[in-house]
Amino acid sequence: MTNYAEFHQRSITDRDAFWGEQAQLVDWKVQPTHICDYSNPPFARWFAGGVTNLCHNAVDRHLKDRADQAALIFVSTETNQERVYSFRELHAEVQRMAAILKGLGVTKGDRVLIYMPMIAEAAFAMLACTRIGAIHSVVFGGFASGSLATRIEDAAPKVIISADAGSRGGKPVAYKPLLDEAISLSSYKPESVLLVDRGLVPMAMVAGRDKLWADLREQNMNTVVECEWVDATHPSYTLYTSGTTGKPKGVQRDTGGYAVALAASMKHIYCGEAGETYFSTSDIGWVVGHSYIIYGPLIAGMATIMYEGLPTRPDGGIWWSLIEKYKVTVMFSAPTAIRVLKKQDPALLKKYDLSTLKALFLAGEPLDQPTAQWISEGLGRPIVDNYWQTETGWPILSICKGVDDSPTKFGSPGKAVYGYDVKLLDETTGEELKGANQKGVVAIEGPLPPGCLQTVWGDDARFVSTYWTTIPGRMIYSTFDWGIRDEEGYYFILGRTDDVINVAGHRLGTREIEESISAHPNVAEVAVVGVADQLKGQVAMAFAVVKDASLIADEASALKMEGEIMKIVDKDLGAVARPARVRFVTVLPKTRSGKCLRRAITAVCEGRDPGDLTTMDDPAALQQIKDLINS
Ligand code: ATP
Ligand code: MG
Repeated sequence: MTNYAEFHQRSITDRDAFWGEQAQLVDWKVQPTHICDYSNPPFARWFAGGVTNLCHNAVDRHLKDRADQAALIFVSTETNQERVYSFRELHAEVQRMAAILKGLGVTKGDRVLIYMPMIAEAAFAMLACTRIGAIHSVVFGGFASGSLATRIEDAAPKVIISADAGSRGGKPVAYKPLLDEAISLSSYKPESVLLVDRGLVPMAMVAGRDKLWADLREQNMNTVVECEWVDATHPSYTLYTSGTTGKPKGVQRDTGGYAVALAASMKHIYCGEAGETYFSTSDIGWVVGHSYIIYGPLIAGMATIMYEGLPTRPDGGIWWSLIEKYKVTVMFSAPTAIRVLKKQDPALLKKYDLSTLKALFLAGEPLDQPTAQWISEGLGRPIVDNYWQTETGWPILSICKGVDDSPTKFGSPGKAVYGYDVKLLDETTGEELKGANQKGVVAIEGPLPPGCLQTVWGDDARFVSTYWTTIPGRMIYSTFDWGIRDEEGYYFILGRTDDVINVAGHRLGTREIEESISAHPNVAEVAVVGVADQLKGQVAMAFAVVKDASLIADEASALKMEGEIMKIVDKDLGAVARPARVRFVTVLPKTRSGKCLRRAITAVCEGRDPGDLTTMDDPAALQQIKDLINS
C-alpha cells in the first residue's frame, strides 16, 4: 500500500507530474500540452491543448476488449422491466440517439435539456450529447414546471428530451404536461422536443415541435455517428446544486478534467475494476448520477446499474437482491436512503449473498453514527462516507481505499482526497487553522483539482464572487461547510456555515447536536436549527421523527421523551447545546435530493419567509412545523 500522506502531498506539490500520470487512464486524440493552466486564477484549465471525448472514453474504447460484456443494466421495479445492454448495444443506441439529435440540428456547444425518469434512454441521451459535443443539462424528473422553466430559460436548449411519464410506487407520474407548462412559462422556446413514449400515460403532441424517439430511432438504426473530438476544456454539461441553502447554482463541467478525475477516482477511491458491476442508487438528476451512475463506472469499463423504483418495493431487500444477482462489487448510496431501509426488517440484510461487495460508499449529507453502525453491522461490509458537492463532481474527503488502508472512523468522511488542498479557516478572520481539533470553514486552496466546476454557467462573475476569497497571492474556495480535523487528518463535518449556531457566545454545529440526539433509541431522524433568541442570541430547536409513534401517543409521553433527549445532549455536549424544545413531526422538510432544508425550518421558526422552495419535496412537512410553532 502506498503511503497515503505522501500520495496526497505529491498531488499538491508536484501537481503536474501527478495529474499527468492520472491523465493516462483515459484516451486522448491529442495529448494535453499543459497539465494545469492556472494563469488566470481561480479559473483552472486542466489538460489544456488535449483533445478527447467523454463518450468515447465511456463506451467506444471498451469495444476492443469487452464489446459483449454488460455496460448498462436497467432495472425498473416500477414497470417490472430488466434489460442488460452490452457495450456493443449501448454503442449502437448512443449512436442512434446522436443521429437523432444531429438530425434535429444539434451541433457542438448546443445545449440539450434532459428531463427524464430513470430509464436507459436517459443514459443514451447523456452519452449521445457528449458524443457530439453538445452540452447536456439534466433536470431531475421529480421537479415541477416552475423549477423546470427556470432551468430551460438558463440553459436555452435547442432540444429537450423527455418522456410521457415516470413512475413512483407503481403509479405513473406524467411528465409531458409539466414539460409543456414549463415551456409555456419560459420565455425561451426549444426548437424540438424528443419524447420517449413508455406507454404509461397518453401524451398530447405539439405539431412541428414534438417528435417521438421510437419513430426517429427507426430511421437511424444503422447510422454511424463518430465522436466529435473536443478540447479538454470544452463544457460537457451543466447541472444545478440541490438548493439547500438558497437558489440553486448552475455548475459547468469540462470534458478532459472530468474524465481524468473520474477514471482516477474509480481506481484510487472506489476500487472498481473493468468487468465488474457498480450500483449507485442515486438519480441521473444529481451529480452522483452523472459521475457514478453514468460516466465513472463506464469510463472504468464496468457495468452500471440504473435502478428505477423505491428501495422498499417490492420489499426492503430489493437493492441487496440486485447485489447478489449482478455480483455488484461497488455500491454507492446516501444516508437518507439507508435511514429509510433502517425502518425495514433487518433480516432482509442477511437474505442475500453480498460477498462480491467490496464496500458501500455513502455521500450527500452527514452519516450519523447509529445509521453507519446499523448498515455496517447489517451488511458486514466496509462502509465509506465521502463528502463532496455538486460543484466538485467527485469526493473532497474520503478514505481512498485504493491507496490508503487506514480505517474509517464513525462520523468522519475521512481525509483530504488527493488533488484537494483542504484547509480549515477561521470564520471571522479567514486565517488558516493549522492545529488539530479546531473548528473552521472547510476550504480548498486553488486551483481546484480536475473534474471540479469550471465556472457557474453563463456567469463567471458569480463563480468568483460566490465561492472565492483572495488572500494575497492565493485564492481559496469555500465549501460553506463547517468542520474539524483531528490529529490523524480525519475531518468531521459539523454542518453548513449557515447552520452554525451561537448560543450565549458558544459556537455549535447543528450537526453535533443532531448526532447526539440520534443516540436516543426512538429517534429515526432529527433536524436541529438555530433560532433567534433575545436573551441568548440563538437557541437550538430540534424537530425529530420517531421510530415508534406509539411511544409518544399522548402529551405526557412526548414530554417524557423530550426530557430524555435533553438529558442526552446535556451529557454529550453540555447544557449550552440543549435544545430549547424538541418537537415531534412525522417527516422533515427536504430537497428532492433528500437533504434537510434547515434554512426553511429556521425561517418558519422565526416567522420569516422560507425563501426559494422550488427544490422542496413535500410541502406538508414544512406545514407541520408551521402548525407546531403556531400552536
Ligand atoms: P446548495 O448548494 O444549492 O445550497 P447543496 O449544497 O445541498 O445545495 P449539493 O451539492 O447537492 O447541494 O450538496 C453538497 C453539500 O452536501 C455539501 O456542501 C455538504 O453540506 C453536504 N454533504 C455532502 N456529503 C456529505 C457528507 N458525507 N457529510 C456531510 N455533509 C455532506
Ligand atoms: Mg452547496
